[in-house]
Amino acid sequence: MNCNKSLCSAVGKRVIMLSDVIICQQCGKSFSKKGIGSHIWRVHGEGRNFNPGKCYTDGTKHVWNKGLTRQTDKTVERIASSLERPQSDLERSVNDDGKLKQRWQNKRVNARAEGIECNLTYDEYCQLVADAGLMSSQLGYTGDGYVLARYNDSGNYEIGNCRFITQKENSDEKNERLFHTH
Ligand SMILES: [Zn+2]
Repeated sequence: MNCNKSLCSAVGKRVIMLSDVIICQQCGKSFSKKGIGSHIWRVHGEGRNFNPGKCYTDGTKHVWNKGLTRQTDKTVERIASSLERPQSDLERSVNDDGKLKQRWQNKRVNARAEGIECNLTYDEYCQLVADAGLMSSQLGYTGDGYVLARYNDSGNYEIGNCRFITQKENSDEKNERLFHTH
């Protein structure tokens, strides 16, 4: 009843974290799937000798990401250069909360987890938000939040096959389809 939106999403995240807990075999502490690699490197591996403060003073290259740099790792390079790219006018016009890129990345990950490809580039995703007359802060998985929905819930997420509707409309559509086909 007394449902606080930010509390609910925090609880949601915690549940996901707990289901993904990994125990470090060397010290017995718990980590998320994402955190365990960094922990092992930093506490039990080569990273023990890494002094982040020193990097700032002696000009050494930062070696976060387990020592991977954009020179040695493709993924780091790809992410680093996409973050460097200046915002387009289109992106700036819809990214009112600064979270749009994260939303797009989440969409790609979540779609894949359901066996669906999200083939939209970030620019196309921005365009769909703009076409719907929305802003980043209006997107989300609660009733009034807008989600990307595929027409007839089939095919991949790509231009021409999806648009933003509210979460409520999306579930109404799903229910209606179930009702009519059974
Ligand atoms: Zn450990």
